[in-house]
Amino acid sequence: MSDALMPETLYCYHCGKHHPKEAMRQIATRTGKRWRCIKSIEASRSNHAAREAFGREKTANNQSYRETILRRMANPELQTLYR
Ligand SMILES: [Zn+2]
Repeated sequence: MSDALMPETLYCYHCGKHHPKEAMRQIATRTGKRWRCIKSIEASRSNHAAREAFGREKTANNQSYRETILRRMANPELQTLYR
């Protein structure tokens, strides 16, 4: 009964707070095993994914820029259009 009223919490090193054990994941760090909440893990994962997507977009932009230059060099008539 008291267990249900007082859910087990663990200290989250990322937030510096205690969270319910159900929301925690034990992860291995350089200093040993520590508990971190799933929320913060998911948040940093999606940030990482967003950064990766941004990097891919930049690469694609560079690629299309290069293609534009090459197309301009291949078609002298096109060059006049950009002047
Ligand atoms: Zn946390």
